[in-house]
Amino acid sequence: MLGCWLLLCSPAFGFVTDDLLTNNTPNNFADDLQDAARWSNVPGSVLSNIRGLGEGLEYAIAPDFCSQIIPLFQDRQPPNCAQIEQEIQKAFDHWGENHAVLNFTPVTASLAAQLPPNGASEPWRGFGAEIDLFVQSPDDYPLVNNFGAYTSFWYTNQRPIGLQGQPVSGKTMTSADIIFNNRSCYFFNAQQPISGCNHFESLLIHEVGHALALDHPNEFPQRNFDTDNTPGNPIPIDCQQPTQNLKLVSQIDVAAIMNSHLGEAAGPQPQLSLDDIGGRNFLYPLCQTVSSTLPSRDRPNPWQLFGGLLVASFCCVFGVAKIMQQREKQRRKKRRTGF
Ligand SMILES: [Zn+2]
Repeated sequence: MLGCWLLLCSPAFGFVTDDLLTNNTPNNFADDLQDAARWSNVPGSVLSNIRGLGEGLEYAIAPDFCSQIIPLFQDRQPPNCAQIEQEIQKAFDHWGENHAVLNFTPVTASLAAQLPPNGASEPWRGFGAEIDLFVQSPDDYPLVNNFGAYTSFWYTNQRPIGLQGQPVSGKTMTSADIIFNNRSCYFFNAQQPISGCNHFESLLIHEVGHALALDHPNEFPQRNFDTDNTPGNPIPIDCQQPTQNLKLVSQIDVAAIMNSHLGEAAGPQPQLSLDDIGGRNFLYPLCQTVSSTLPSRDRPNPWQLFGGLLVASFCCVFGVAKIMQQREKQRRKKRRTGF
C-alpha cells in the first residue's frame, strides 16, 4: 500500500551521475558531482580524430544494425531502415532540446562503428565514432545478456573542458557504445505497446543518457541530487558554479527516463523529465553566452587530454533484467573498473 502511494504521488526529484564515479569516496555521496564524467567542449570532429562536443557528438550505426534489429520488432508493420535511422536521431535529439551546444551528428557514412578490440592497448582513445550503436548477441557481447540494451563508456581522469571554455572537475569521456540485444524484442509504435518488448525510442533515449554519463536514480537514490524539496519543478543550474545549491535528496523522480526497469521491458516514455534535464544541464551548463571555440593558444591537443589512470565504466539498463542479473552487472562493472 505504501509502495503504491509512493508510486502515485512521489514528487519529481533529481538526477544521478554514473555510480562508479565517486571522487574516491565511495561512502560519501556528497562530493560525487566533483567526479562526474562528461564530454569535453573542444572544437573539431571525430573525423579529424578529435573527441568532444565539437561538430556535435558524432555517432555511427553499425552496418548490420537494421538487418539485425528489424526482425526483432513485433509491430504489425515493422519499421524500415530509414525509419529506424530517423528514430535514432530523434532519440538523440531529445537530449539536445533547448540546448545550443549539445547536439548529435550522424557520421555513419564516413566512419565505421567499432568496439575496442579485445586486448586493445589504449581503448580509451576511442574506436569508431564518439557514440557507436550495435545489435549484438549476448554470446558475442555478454554484458547485454538479459537487458534490452547496454551502454558502456570510456573516459580518462583528465579534467574536461566545460561549456564556459575552462577545465572543470571530473573525467573526460572519450567513447560510448550502445548495444541492443538480438535476443530481446522491440516495438516502434508508442501508441501500440507490445507487452514484454522494449519501446525502441524510449530505450534509446535512456541509453543516450548513459552515453552522457547519467545513471539510474531508482537504483542509487542515495546519490540523487536536486536543488530543493519542491516536487516537479525544474532544477536550476548555475552555469558558472554548477554544483552550487545541489544537495542529496533521496526521493527520486519516478518519471525520469533514467530510471532502470528491473525485470521489465522499457515502456513508451519518449521524453525527458525535468530531472533528466537537470542532470543534463549540470553536466553541460549553458550560460547565455557560450564559449564553444577556444582561442588557439588555449586549445588543448585532444591526445594531451588523455592521461592518468585508464578506466572503463559500464552502465546498463532497461530491458528484461532481473535482480540477480543486476548484481552480476555490478560485479562485472567492478571487475572491469580495474583496467
Ligand atoms: Zn540504464
